[in-house]
Amino acid sequence: MDLGIAGRTGLVTAASRGFGRACALSLAREGVNVIIVARTPGPLQDAADEIAAATGAKVSTVAADIVSDAGRAAVLAACPDPDILVNNSGGPPHGDDFREWDRDTWIAAMDDSMLTPIFFIKAVLDGMIERRFGRIVNITSNSVKAPIPNMGLSNGARTGLTGFVAGLARESVRHNVTINNLLPGRSATDRLWRNLGAAAKKSGRTIEEVEAEQKAAHPAGRFGDPAEMGDACAFLSSVQAGYITGQNLLVDGGKFPGTF
Ligand code: NAD
Repeated sequence: MDLGIAGRTGLVTAASRGFGRACALSLAREGVNVIIVARTPGPLQDAADEIAAATGAKVSTVAADIVSDAGRAAVLAACPDPDILVNNSGGPPHGDDFREWDRDTWIAAMDDSMLTPIFFIKAVLDGMIERRFGRIVNITSNSVKAPIPNMGLSNGARTGLTGFVAGLARESVRHNVTINNLLPGRSATDRLWRNLGAAAKKSGRTIEEVEAEQKAAHPAGRFGDPAEMGDACAFLSSVQAGYITGQNLLVDGGKFPGTF
């Protein structure tokens, strides 16, 4: 299927690795000119070079911290009018010690998973509305559908973004600007391997043992491939997806047990 977005401009945040990189790659494969953002210039440029080599698309970089005002300003100076915005983030830290979390801890989580995407949306939405085309995809988490133990910061902050977007997505669609959320389950990114390492250390087992246990307990018997998220993102960014807005699409291999 031709997704109808060749020549469009796509801004993908937090994109030197993992889901962000996968979304940029899938968009670039469709002929989108992508601007990718991460904090560290070296790995970011490596990702850009690899995506450009694999797709032939134009790939630019902005090395910036997206949770800072200055970082977002630098991103928006380089890319003020994207047609496609993919809001990804590093994600809040794990932990079950909510009695220890002070205001700064909560604000940091909300900056990562709620306020930064909202500020990017605020900056680009009116331009999309004027041009009568826009696709916004937020990478959130399966924690929005079912809270994950040990991830209270994610459970809370991401649900705030989801509630806000649910309203706005019904206003912008009239102008052919859609806003949707992708909710990944466990997928084989660096973040997952870091988490498995921490879980293994805590329980005195090897990473391989924790990995085998988690895969055995999963309906799909495996972790997700970041490319599966990337391609779902490209579809939600397509011309064909213009009647899909305000949705929360699980990409979790059936892990969420609900009928709906
Ligand atoms: P990852 O660690 O593999 O990649 C994160 C990317 O974000 C990297 O490119 C990193 O450089 C960039 N980044 C982090 N903080 C940044 C900042 N302040 N400014 C700019 N760039 C920044 O992570 P991932 O697994 O791809 O996860 C992406 C998102 O999806 C996270 O919010 C994570 O919590 C969420 N998520 C992941 C999984 C999973 O299984 N991997 C499941 C559910 C939700």
